[in-house]
Amino acid sequence: MSGKKVVLPLEGGCQCGAVRYAISAAPLTLYCCHCTECQAQSSSAFGMSMLVDYDSLNVDWSSLGVWGRKTDSGGSMTCHFCSTCGTRLFHLREGDTEIVSVKAGSLDDHDWLEPVGHIWTDSAQSWFELPDDKMTTARDPGEMDDYIVRWREMTANWFV
Ligand SMILES: [Zn+2]
Ligand SMILES: [Zn+2]
Repeated sequence: MSGKKVVLPLEGGCQCGAVRYAISAAPLTLYCCHCTECQAQSSSAFGMSMLVDYDSLNVDWSSLGVWGRKTDSGGSMTCHFCSTCGTRLFHLREGDTEIVSVKAGSLDDHDWLEPVGHIWTDSAQSWFELPDDKMTTARDPGEMDDYIVRWREMTANWFV
């Protein structure tokens, strides 16, 4: 779909409103992750991850709770959440200081969201029907480069 107009900065926050954030630049990509960790984290069917440049995200990091976990690839990541209501907001991979994964459901405006694809579809809940017109990866795609390129094509001229 083309012709969407999304006004920057993107704004969002946690469920109780104690944490607010703003993103000043167009996101790098948006996808759904059906891995068992995202299912456990969201208490739901899948997670929505929106990758953004670290420098474009304005938030008071010191106000957030932090929890770390191992990743399937043997690295680790830190998970940042509202200390009051527990809403998960951001994930950062160890050693990566440039990209933040934002839990896209925490944005104020969901209307424009359109994931470019789905990863870890091997563990998707059985009722979920994969879309024909989106990218899919059975497990961990490793680099997200293809998802970033496809997103750039899909969202050209969306962000103003
Ligand atoms: Zn909160
Ligand atoms: Zn996941």
